[in-house]
Amino acid sequence: MIISLAEIMQIPNASEQMEIPVEAEKIHVAGMDHKVMEKEPVKLTITNLGNRKVRLTGTGLIKLAIPCSRCLDDVTVAFPMEFDEEVDFQKTEAERMEDLDEQVYIDGTNLDVERLIYDEILLDFPLQTLCREDCKGICKVCGVNLNRETCSCDQTVMDPRMAAFQDIFDQFKEV
Ligand SMILES: [Zn+2]
Ligand SMILES: [Zn+2]
Repeated sequence: MIISLAEIMQIPNASEQMEIPVEAEKIHVAGMDHKVMEKEPVKLTITNLGNRKVRLTGTGLIKLAIPCSRCLDDVTVAFPMEFDEEVDFQKTEAERMEDLDEQVYIDGTNLDVERLIYDEILLDFPLQTLCREDCKGICKVCGVNLNRETCSCDQTVMDPRMAAFQDIFDQFKEV
């Protein structure tokens, strides 16, 4: 959803609270779409700080389905969000983009709430997701999920510490 900040910037010291429903059904991160399993509306407070500065604070919660790094079963991962951003409209768009915190969720005087959420998820996105600490993964030979089935393929049983190394190797292979 796009929220115009133009009006609140006209009113000195104005502060507005709003609940914004999350539209996204899936979020594209790390090369694939992740289904949104649960979402709560974003509770946002927009405050006019004066001198063309606006502060955005708020909270949100989104839960995404992320495949386990070892067995590829979907795991529901919660992303609790806390926003506290200051947007300085005295700066030009180019200057804002140069800031360390690239505020791409601002376009002109419009706030793109979906983009704000996306940025937050990107920051918190786990490098590795496991369905459980001791996930046995899938058999490299026949492909069965070793958490649910056993197979008689010829392979030395990996202990979990070795499995962790294997994950790292797999990540390198993907690059
Ligand atoms: Zn797993
Ligand atoms: Zn097997």
